[in-house]
Amino acid sequence: MPFTTGCSLGNMNEQDKLPFPTPSHWINGRAVPGSGPVIDVINPADESVVASVPGGTAEDVDKAVDAAVAAFPGWSATSPADRIAVIRRLAEGMQKHNESLAETITLEMGAPISFARQAQAGFPVASTLAAVAAAEEFEWEETIGNSLVVHEAIGVVGAITPWNFPLQQLVTKVVPALLGGNTIVLKPSEMSPLSALMFAEIASAAGLPDGVLNVVQGTGPVVGEAISRHPRIDMISFTGSTRAGKSVSVAASDTVKRVALELGGKAAHIVLPDADLDFAVSRGLAFAWSNGGQACGAYVRMLVPAGLQETVVEKLRAAAAEYSVGDPADEATRIGPLASETQRQRVDGYIRRGVEDGATLVVGGPGRPEGLETGAYVRPTIFSDVDPSSVIAQEEIFGPVLTVIPYTDDDDAVRIANSTIYGLNAAVTGEEEHAMAIAKRLRVGQVDVNGGPHNFQAPFGGYKQSGNGREMGRAGIEEFLETKAITH
Ligand code: NAD
Repeated sequence: MPFTTGCSLGNMNEQDKLPFPTPSHWINGRAVPGSGPVIDVINPADESVVASVPGGTAEDVDKAVDAAVAAFPGWSATSPADRIAVIRRLAEGMQKHNESLAETITLEMGAPISFARQAQAGFPVASTLAAVAAAEEFEWEETIGNSLVVHEAIGVVGAITPWNFPLQQLVTKVVPALLGGNTIVLKPSEMSPLSALMFAEIASAAGLPDGVLNVVQGTGPVVGEAISRHPRIDMISFTGSTRAGKSVSVAASDTVKRVALELGGKAAHIVLPDADLDFAVSRGLAFAWSNGGQACGAYVRMLVPAGLQETVVEKLRAAAAEYSVGDPADEATRIGPLASETQRQRVDGYIRRGVEDGATLVVGGPGRPEGLETGAYVRPTIFSDVDPSSVIAQEEIFGPVLTVIPYTDDDDAVRIANSTIYGLNAAVTGEEEHAMAIAKRLRVGQVDVNGGPHNFQAPFGGYKQSGNGREMGRAGIEEFLETKAITH
């Protein structure tokens, strides 16, 4: 089924340039300068400083919470229809400013511009419209026996987001939380704080009342921690690493906050013996390497029948030659730099580890791509004959590194797929009925069978240490609601 939202927007082609955002916090409907040290936002393509945002302190969080608490009674009392109208205009605004948003995201985290337009700035519009469609159908009140069951806002939501899809990750929290009547204190990643400010301005222009959405810039251990502990924040919705998610849970436990965690992943893509191998390879590689592999759901482990490994590897080698690495501002680039020098060193370290541990290098390898001496570039890499228990097959690498793992039969494939601490998503390619049967055996929150079109209504979230929340569509709205039974 192709994805439909049930919504339509006006003239999608009209593009307006948004001014570059004032690097600041955003509190009570306006840009608020910070005091104290700043955090430089670095363009990972050339290491230049793009902007400097305030470092952010616990006092800044307090101010944002004051604004969110003050705005809550008014916003939560609006009708769902009124909130939906604002959020529709927000989707229109993001569509209208697609180019500005894409350019800013490319500057702050290095996504190739063509991918930034389509996915980084495009998915948030589709996700917003899907949430609107879900909200339109949602039963905010229902009768169960002699009880009226009311679904209502939780209160002030603290949202903490990563840099890999900076706009999409915040939209999947902020939009459903707003549709439910909550108010928000958002801390975007300190590496990608600018798109969040543009979002706040677009939301304000769409008619979101002052104080309903607030943005506090800063680091995880200072601002993220203050949000997670704050006694007047009622819920934390966190997307990021499993390591940081555990800290957030601990900090939030003192006040028994609701905590929704969207954490790391290590997706397996099981290629069945009856699969169309050309399709499996081209789609599998695209989903392993897009966004430079910096996606929680990247298909980083390709599980192939042992007897077909050689054929698959040859096809992968040919497919990999189509991926140009370079300047993300260039329309033709398919893989840009990683988001930072820290990430470059981390990913390069994993590539070295794979070689040391005896995996077979098919393409790429340690070091920088030729001619790219400045910037956070790595060589997109494929390993074959990977031991499923080795470090590169178990830990989240978060770079363009595909591991090909041979398996013997269905049981072996399922065992390997389920053998990491993660359980976010997986893919299966092969004869439909066979693939569906395998999909049901995987301990993950989402499975892509044979490349069905992406469904922005489908719940997305993890099993095991990939988290405990569900985002997108109806499940995403329910995540941000309390349930009250009034029995009479
Ligand atoms: P990260 O955990 O380093 O940071 C994420 C956010 O948490 C940032 O805003 C950061 O400042 C903040 N933070 C860090 N330490 C904190 C602490 N102690 N308390 C509170 N906040 C803290 O992750 P990242 O490097 O920005 O993003 C990559 C990670 O995000 C990967 O592990 C990836 O799998 C995960 N991710 C998961 C999903 C999902 O939906 N499951 C989506 C995208 C990314």
